[in-house]
Amino acid sequence: MERSTVKLQGYNIDSFNVDEALRYITEKKGIVITINPEMVKYGKQNPEFADFVNTSELVIPDGIGIEIGLRILGYKIKRIAGIDFAKRLVAEFSKTSQPIAFIGAKPQIAELAVQNLKKEYENLNACYIHDGYFQDDKAVLNELVNSNPKLVLIALGSPKQEFFIRNAKKLLPDTIFIGIGGSFDVWSGTVKRAPKIYQKLGLEWLYRTIKEPQRFKRIFPTLPLFLVDVITEKICGEK
Ligand code: UDP
Repeated sequence: MERSTVKLQGYNIDSFNVDEALRYITEKKGIVITINPEMVKYGKQNPEFADFVNTSELVIPDGIGIEIGLRILGYKIKRIAGIDFAKRLVAEFSKTSQPIAFIGAKPQIAELAVQNLKKEYENLNACYIHDGYFQDDKAVLNELVNSNPKLVLIALGSPKQEFFIRNAKKLLPDTIFIGIGGSFDVWSGTVKRAPKIYQKLGLEWLYRTIKEPQRFKRIFPTLPLFLVDVITEKICGEK
């Protein structure tokens, strides 16, 4: 299966739909990036990060900001929420009990998330679970490698999770990795996901901002400035 990407603010973004993306990465293995405007911004100050994203195996447009940005450039590509994509991967890997590692969130949250996921996927094989507040990356990497996972879900928030994945991939070249921010909090039942109507309208960010007002300064001015940059890219071409 061939990749088909489009360019947005210097990033290669895949144009697959969910099923194609799932098929592609299960065959290819490697890193799935769930890109959002904050990551685009971070990559502008940190070329190493941008380079890491551009050398990853799959980059899916997570969220309405990226979907609108792509639309401005004339690409009709539907967003794929990282949390949903990760769940599809868990479902797929659980069919044959392939080992899955869960790293991230506050203590006990990942365990709770796994317990809840097991209610849906009874053959889920969690080979490694660790919270996201560790100091010794090496020790966690070592334990992770020894658990021999085929899929690794990392929920440390961005860019921490991407830097962790970059190191882990060198040790586990045939494994799939995906960074999924606050997803364990949702699966554990600790944080409520936005109701379906918000998800459908692409307003999940609004719901999260209402629930956690401290997120406001993360979204503003990042989102409007991102859109201004994309409009400039459309008019003047990429800088
Ligand atoms: N987190 C972590 N280790 C850290 C910092 C954050 O495990 O050192 C976790 C945090 O507990 C939360 C997630 O990473 O579960 C970040 O969630 P956030 O909602 O900020 O991520 P987003 O989905 O917005 O990328």
